Amino acid sequence: MTITRRTILAGTALAAAPIGGTIALAQTNTATPATPPSTPTTGPRQAPGFYRYKVGDVEVTAVNDGFAQRPLEGFVKNAELKDVQAAMQEAFLPGDALPITFNTLVLNRGGRLTLIDTGNGDMGAPTSGRWMENFRAAGFDPSQVDTVVISHFHGDHINGLRLKDGTAVFPNAEVMVPEPEWAFWMDDTRMSQAPEGMKGAFQGVRRVFGPIAEDVKRYGMETEIVPGLTSVAAPGHTPGHTAYYLSSGSGKLMIMSDITNHPALFVRHPDWSAVFDMDAEQARATRRRMLDMAASERAQVAFYHAPFPSTGHIAKEGNGYRFVPVQWSPAV
Ligand SMILES: [Zn+2]
Repeated sequence: MTITRRTILAGTALAAAPIGGTIALAQTNTATPATPPSTPTTGPRQAPGFYRYKVGDVEVTAVNDGFAQRPLEGFVKNAELKDVQAAMQEAFLPGDALPITFNTLVLNRGGRLTLIDTGNGDMGAPTSGRWMENFRAAGFDPSQVDTVVISHFHGDHINGLRLKDGTAVFPNAEVMVPEPEWAFWMDDTRMSQAPEGMKGAFQGVRRVFGPIAEDVKRYGMETEIVPGLTSVAAPGHTPGHTAYYLSSGSGKLMIMSDITNHPALFVRHPDWSAVFDMDAEQARATRRRMLDMAASERAQVAFYHAPFPSTGHIAKEGNGYRFVPVQWSPAV
């Protein structure tokens, strides 16, 4: 039989008939009226935004910090708006604004907690700032964090370290930052010569790191910074932007940081550059290199800015790539 809209509708009507019959029967047989059902009190909320998976012996927890909307116009510097809109349409995303999500990682290795990036704290868009609630819902407390590893110094990665009122959020953590990132942003001469529009970013870095400047540990590239976690130079997005390899037993994870601001745009079109990429050409080369490696090694990847839980694999497709999210699993 050929399935048409008409046959589907007819099927629905037939299927509905016995249900109506059952209800009529139930009403006939009920001696006392049923208790009226209570009103659901769900509210417009999802389950807490955390997701766990294993990489060898390391328990990884992705913790979401909400999202921010960016107007699509002007977001990709080297592509026509209509081409960007076509990419959004291909991914069934809106044609006017891009939802950018924020996802940190907590690595639990034998009870030692390492946090990679910290979210927006109380300084981000009203649709962000969910991190602490989600982190606590995942069973953690900020006092338990041993190490905070920072990938680069953009506000959405560092502001969670220190509240607006100056309070340090992770009282017992050692803070580790990329050496080239520190050298760039903490250079007072560079700050004084920076264009007006960039001064705020320099000041934001000083707000977070100024009070702990003596204690911040600066790490180099291609270095095992905590057991199993190796820094990988990934410059372009910022001068010291860093990715990581997490390895434990046979488990491997490529932690891509801000190689992309959304896979639907920059994984599919790796030569496009977002307004946030400080050196577009260098960012493009880094993105191609990392995506190509992930695809050829069939490695699991984690992004900071991808639809939650922000982990999956990379497949080659045409002149670009495709992000294939993991299948949600109830088992860790
Ligand atoms: Zn970012």
